[in-house]
Amino acid sequence: MITDYYKNIANHVISTRRERLTSGFRAAGRPDHTGADFTDADRLELRQDIYILAFADGVADRAGLGSAASGLGYYIDIRHESGGASYLTRYCHLRGAPVFKAGQAVGRGDVLGIMGKTGNSTGIHLHFGLKEDSVSWDTGVWVDPEPYLFGAKAMGGAALPPAGAIAVGDSVRLTPSAAVYATGQSIPAWVKAGTYTVMQVKADRVLLKEIISWVFERDVTRNGK
Ligand SMILES: [Zn+2]
Repeated sequence: MITDYYKNIANHVISTRRERLTSGFRAAGRPDHTGADFTDADRLELRQDIYILAFADGVADRAGLGSAASGLGYYIDIRHESGGASYLTRYCHLRGAPVFKAGQAVGRGDVLGIMGKTGNSTGIHLHFGLKEDSVSWDTGVWVDPEPYLFGAKAMGGAALPPAGAIAVGDSVRLTPSAAVYATGQSIPAWVKAGTYTVMQVKADRVLLKEIISWVFERDVTRNGK
């Protein structure tokens, strides 16, 4: 679990700015887990409703109560077409029937229902799944939705970073000449001595996971170089 994970979420699928990842895509010990589970970092859901939000514009595909065997509980699948590519997003364990019915248009950020624990769920959370190459509900490949949530990937195929560019997941070090964070404060020596994981890349800067700080891309090099 990553502390302050929510700070780096670009696209919210629950109505809080404090998403907490409780179980990732194919997490250790859960090879069949084809999505990511989120709840609220402050467990606010115990005191107030948390809404489930559509990730992108699309059309409701299947919506309702899944079979007991499926474990989905109340769920909704939304199909998305973008840049000639087809996607499906899935939202499970809603407290009650989803707001949209199959065939209805859904807009990004629309409320789909209330976060709950129906189906195969031990606590209130959202299971969010994302399929690529999904031309119908039963086709496509479940992929890790986190890069989409962080903005590292976008539906419709955002341009891939050029070869050699720093990418999410890279292990990097700061160069000796690195002087300031992207926010302007000077970088202390002990920070320069560390090794970091790139969590997000945006324009000319990268977010380093271990210190949750943005630095300029020109000031980092991949480990081993
Ligand atoms: Zn799940």
